Amino acid sequence: MIMMERQDIEVVIQVEYGPGKTRRLYENRSAICQYNKLVAAIRSKIPSLTFVDIGLLYENPDKPDHWVVLSQDDREVEDIIHRAKQPEGTEYKLLCFKTFEGKSPATHNQNVISACKGKALERGPGMEPRQLFGTIDVGERNDPDGDLQENFVYSSPLDTEVKTHEEEVQKAEEDYLISVAEYNSLYDVLHPEVDEDPSLAVCSNCHTRAGHHKGQCPSKGDPCPSMKICGKDKFHNDELKELNKLKDQKGKKDQYLKRRRQMLKTTMERVESLQNTFKQKVQGLLINSNKKKYTKVIHDKVFVSWPAVNMDLAILEGHYKPQKRTPQEHEAADFDYIISEAEKLKDKCKRKD
Ligand SMILES: [Zn+2]
Ligand SMILES: [Zn+2]
Repeated sequence: MIMMERQDIEVVIQVEYGPGKTRRLYENRSAICQYNKLVAAIRSKIPSLTFVDIGLLYENPDKPDHWVVLSQDDREVEDIIHRAKQPEGTEYKLLCFKTFEGKSPATHNQNVISACKGKALERGPGMEPRQLFGTIDVGERNDPDGDLQENFVYSSPLDTEVKTHEEEVQKAEEDYLISVAEYNSLYDVLHPEVDEDPSLAVCSNCHTRAGHHKGQCPSKGDPCPSMKICGKDKFHNDELKELNKLKDQKGKKDQYLKRRRQMLKTTMERVESLQNTFKQKVQGLLINSNKKKYTKVIHDKVFVSWPAVNMDLAILEGHYKPQKRTPQEHEAADFDYIISEAEKLKDKCKRKD
């Protein structure tokens, strides 16, 4: 969607800002003729670059595929615009950039490698663009409010409730599995395999089936001390009680887990039915897509600026509804673009009035 009149477009900027991520910006010369203006124009169209320091590389207009680090020098920006070529059949100049995290050097005399904090980055031909998209530590930021906003993640009360139930289910599952393991291991210990003839009578003293009675038992003063040896429930009540206690616990944990799962299911159904409105579905995505715009910091706490959110939700609804599309999470990066284009259109209408 290009809202600018054809004659306004003097330069098309193609920005590669990650592997497989490219965006084209349609600008007039005066809007990008200084380094800061150029970076601001790029940031305003690519929200994911809002909170990172970026530097720029440009494709040498005279040598395709040769990438050069752009310094923060307005004369250099002017120079590359001047040297940029017009693709055949167009009336605009095309400039290609790649971003990297870090900072462009103030002038070209500065050591580019140190500006990029040791990333394998060279100037000029033969550069491997892939190396440019790694994260580079840009050091301390001097913007505590900005950091608060950046770390803030909006989550609706319902989403929070679902998350709580999910955590409860997970904990209940773990508890149940521990309980099953405890029961099984004690059961196995108390039921050893005993090699004996089942047709023979059991001696109530040594608990073996050796064909003798208690009175004839060779281990007269030495009765069987544990189920762990004979494996027979009926002679060892204490051990059986212990085992049944674990069985009971296991059953209770199973019931508890089932109740937690049901609660989670009910909550999720409630969320589904409530989140049918466009607003409910999109507001979280929108807020988190541009926290600087949609939140404010008051006394070290981050709050959502609902008037700003609601205004842009209305714009987005107008954009998506006619197409019967629902913005999915990966489209959040386009929110800023859609909104700014809609605002430009509105400004244009006002000027005509
Ligand atoms: Zn015996
Ligand atoms: Zn025994």
